[in-house]
Amino acid sequence: MAMRFSILGSGSSGNSALLVTPGARILIDAGFSARKLSALLAAVGESLDRIDAVFLTHEHGDHAAGIEGLKKFPALPIFANPATSRAVQAKLDPAHRPAWQLFETGARFRFRDLEIESFAVPHDAHDPVGFRFTGGRPDDLFDPRRSLVYLTDLGHAPQHVREYLRACDVVVVEANHCSTLLQADNRRPWATKQRIAGRHGHLSNEAVRELLASVASPPWRHVYLTHLSRDCNSAQAIETALAGLRGSLASCVFSIVAPETGTPFYEL
Ligand SMILES: [Zn+2]
Ligand SMILES: [Zn+2]
Repeated sequence: MAMRFSILGSGSSGNSALLVTPGARILIDAGFSARKLSALLAAVGESLDRIDAVFLTHEHGDHAAGIEGLKKFPALPIFANPATSRAVQAKLDPAHRPAWQLFETGARFRFRDLEIESFAVPHDAHDPVGFRFTGGRPDDLFDPRRSLVYLTDLGHAPQHVREYLRACDVVVVEANHCSTLLQADNRRPWATKQRIAGRHGHLSNEAVRELLASVASPPWRHVYLTHLSRDCNSAQAIETALAGLRGSLASCVFSIVAPETGTPFYEL
C-alpha cells in the first residue's frame, strides 16, 4: 500500500484532507480550527500531533484558517509558495511565525517519501496552486507508485492542469455549484454570483464534467467531487451532470463529498 487518503471536510466552511504514506502523514489545507481538525482526525483514528506537514493551496480562510491554531506545534512545517505564506502570515498574531517551507509554484520537490508537484490554478487568491502527490516505487508490490491530484478552487481548467490529471490514480476536484441553481439563488448579490461563476472563481458541475471528459482513457481509480456549495449544489445535480461520464469510466469510484462531511480512508 503506497497511500491512504481521507477527506476530513470540504466546502465553503472549511477544507482539509489527510494523506498517509509509509513515511509521512500530511494535511492538504487546514481550513478548520485546531479543535475541529483534532476532532476530524480522531474520527479516522489519527491525531494532530502525528501530522508531519501541512500543504496549503491558497490563503482563503476555508483552506488556511487553521494555521492560527497550529501554533501549539511550532516546528510543524507549513508548505506554501511565498505569496500564500505572506498572505496567511499577515493575518496571524505577529509573534506567531509558523515553520514556513517555501516552494515556487511549478517546482517539483520531495518531502520524506513523497514527491510533490505544484501548479498554478486560476482563482481569486494571491498565487493559488493545485498539487500532485506521488508516493511509492515502480514495480514494488507492497509500495506501488501512486499519485493523487488535489484540485479545488479554480474558475476554469487551463491545459496544463489537464496534463496533471492525465497521470494520477486519485483525483480530488471541486464541483462547486450547479450553474442553474447559482443563477436562481436570490440570497447572494449579483456581484458575488459573478465572482463564483467567473474565470477566477469556482468550477461548476458542468465545467467539471467537461474537464474530466477531456482526459482520454484516464487511469483514475477514484474521483472525489468536493467543495460543494451548500445552497447552490446537490448530490443529485452532480449525479445528473456526470451521468454519461460515469458510464464511460465504469471501474472508477466516484465519491460526492457532502459539505462538512469527511470520508473514510481510501487505500491505494
Ligand atoms: Zn478559495
Ligand atoms: Zn475554498
